[in-house]
Amino acid sequence: MFTFRTTTIIFFILLLGLNLLSIAIQPVHFGFYLLLIWLYLSVSVLMSFFIRSGFHRKALCNLDTTRKVVALTFDDGPHPEITVKILDLLRNRATATFFCKGMNIEGNEPILRKMNLEGHLIGNHSWSHSDWFDFYPPRKMREELIHTDAKIGSVIGKKPLLFRPPYGVINPMLKKALSGLPYHVIGFSNRCWDTVAKDEKKVLGRVKKNLRPGDVILLHDTVENSVNILKDLLDHLDEEGYSVVPLDKLFNVEAYEK
Ligand SMILES: [Zn+2]
Repeated sequence: MFTFRTTTIIFFILLLGLNLLSIAIQPVHFGFYLLLIWLYLSVSVLMSFFIRSGFHRKALCNLDTTRKVVALTFDDGPHPEITVKILDLLRNRATATFFCKGMNIEGNEPILRKMNLEGHLIGNHSWSHSDWFDFYPPRKMREELIHTDAKIGSVIGKKPLLFRPPYGVINPMLKKALSGLPYHVIGFSNRCWDTVAKDEKKVLGRVKKNLRPGDVILLHDTVENSVNILKDLLDHLDEEGYSVVPLDKLFNVEAYEK
């Protein structure tokens, strides 16, 4: 499998090869060493952005199934207005998972309680979701996750086991931060780009076109777009005979610490 570990092994084998070549045949120009190091670093950085690759750490991104089931996930909330509209749309129709930013829970505790009471799952999406999160040292990342767990725990009385990395990036620092923590790392297989897309119809068209059994669909409960997309998406899933299930049912994992 193409992972950080196998890439590192290949890198060292090639490095050893260059050294042997230098000793046995003729000195290798240092440019080849630089090229090799550059390739290794580039692959490692680039693959951090592809959560489905499992390059640095495996994430649950979809279920391999032919059953018509999908999970809906909402990131970055709770938002005082948009999350409430989304909960209204979901009520008695579908249960979803909300990956919350710890800092957004402050002042929105009643919304979090409502989510929980209405059967939705709550996951950890870091405390700050800072633009610089992926450059933080592992210790600081870990503090953010623990802080968010504590906040969620203080509101709903349960500590989450579902974690989604901010920006869907898993780099070596996050891998280290997660080591020893009991999370199920959750990715996605069908994203709406609802935070940047202007044309809701186009966004929905793309989601429909890419829809597969076992998909984990990513939306954001921080943009008005998502409310309109969700309305049509729920109708489409009904028409196509899809059931919407929460992530713990889709992957058969625990959503909270016992
Ligand atoms: Zn996010």
